[in-house]
Amino acid sequence: MFVTDLTCWACGAHYPIEGLINLCKCGKPLKVNYDLSAVKDRLSPAKLLSRDWNLWRYREVLPLDLEVEPPTLGEGCTPLLLVDALADALGMKSGRLFIKDEGVNPTGSFKARGMAVAVPMAKQLGATKLAVPSAGNAGGAMATYAARVGIEAHVFMPKDVPMANRLECELMGAKVTLVDGLITDCARIVQERKAEEGWFDVSTLKEPYRVEGKKTMGYEIAEQRDWKLPDVILYPTGGGTGLVGMWKAFEEMERMGWIGSERPRMVSVQAAGCAPIVRAFEAGVSDAGMFENAHTVASGLRVPRAIGDFIMLDILRKSGGTAIAIEDSELMADAYAMGASTGVNTCPEGGACLSALRKLLATGAIRPQDTVVLFNTGTGVKYAEAFAAYPL
Ligand SMILES: *Cc1c(COP(=O)(O)O)cnc(C)c1O
Ligand SMILES: [Zn+2]
Repeated sequence: MFVTDLTCWACGAHYPIEGLINLCKCGKPLKVNYDLSAVKDRLSPAKLLSRDWNLWRYREVLPLDLEVEPPTLGEGCTPLLLVDALADALGMKSGRLFIKDEGVNPTGSFKARGMAVAVPMAKQLGATKLAVPSAGNAGGAMATYAARVGIEAHVFMPKDVPMANRLECELMGAKVTLVDGLITDCARIVQERKAEEGWFDVSTLKEPYRVEGKKTMGYEIAEQRDWKLPDVILYPTGGGTGLVGMWKAFEEMERMGWIGSERPRMVSVQAAGCAPIVRAFEAGVSDAGMFENAHTVASGLRVPRAIGDFIMLDILRKSGGTAIAIEDSELMADAYAMGASTGVNTCPEGGACLSALRKLLATGAIRPQDTVVLFNTGTGVKYAEAFAAYPL
C-alpha cells in the first residue's frame, strides 16, 4: 500500500491511516496522501494496458491493502463517447464533444465508484455496520458494496425518495428507514445514533475514501484521451466528491509525470432550486453556507449544504472554470434531448450538463473548438417519477 497519511483539506493537520476516521478535529474533510514517487517506480501508463478494465487498474493510487482482493462488480472504466451529432446541433466542431457515461456503472450511477472503495476500506479498518443518509443513488451503492463484502448497511431516506433508489437498497439487504423530512433530517439521525449503534458514517466527504474511488474518473479521462486532458469538464455537482476527486487525480498524475501542468476549466452545474455553489461562486466567497428550501427533481443535486464547498470553489476558480444553475424544466427537456441525439440513457443531472453547455456556448465561455467532456452521472431509468412529472 502506498498511502502515507491523511491531511485535513482545510487546516493541514496530519492523521495516521490506521483506524476508522470521519472528519478532522476542525470539522473539515480529510485527504488521502500517497508516496507518489514509489507509485511512479511501480506503475506507468504503459503498464496499465494489460490490466483489468475496472477502476482497480489504478490500484497503487487507491487505499485498499494490496493483499486484499478488491470486491469488484465491474465499476468504473465507463465509455467516453464521441457525440458528433450533438456537437453539430450545438454548432461545435466535430471530434470535440464527449459524454462520460457513468450510467453504465453497477448500481446505475457513479456513486458505485466511491462506495466500491469506501466500503471495503471501512471493513479493512474494522467497521461492521455502515450508515448513510441518501435521497438518491448513494444509499443503493453503499448497500450494494456492503452486500458484496458482507457487512451491515443502514440507509436513511426521505419518504418521498424515488422508488428505484429505495428498492435497490432493499434488494441488497440493507435496513432502510424512511424519514418524514429532508436529507438533512436523515443526516441528523445518523449523526445522533451512530455512536450508540456502532455505525460508521459513510456520508459524502465525511470519510476520506469515497473521493478516492471517484477520482478514478480523472485517471480514466486522461487514459482514454491518451494522457491529454480536455479543455472543459461539465460536472453536475451535489456534494462535490467527483469534482474534488478528479482535481486530486490531475495533481497526482502531474506529480508522477503522466500529464503536464495544464488543467481543464472545471464547470459546476447545479439545479436552480438548489445552487449553493453557484451562489457562492458568484458572490466570490469560499463558504457556500446552507441553501434554504432546496428542491429539484435531479436528486443527485439536492445537497443544500456541502461540507467540501471550500474545496470545490477553490478548484472552480483555480481552473478558470465557472458555476451555473439550470431550471428543472430545462434540465429535464435536455435529458430527453440528450437521449434522443446520442443514445445515452440520460439522467436529469446529465441533462443539466447539456443545458449548461448550451448556455456557456452562447456566452462564449466555451468555444466551438474546445474539447469538452460532459458527465452523464447516472442512468435515466432510475428516475421514473421525475420523467413522469416532466413528460416529453
Ligand atoms: C450524487 C450524484 C451527483 C452529484 O455528485 P457529487 O460528486 O456528490 O457532487 C450527480 N449526479 C448523480 C446521478 C448523483 O447520484
Ligand atoms: Zn482540519
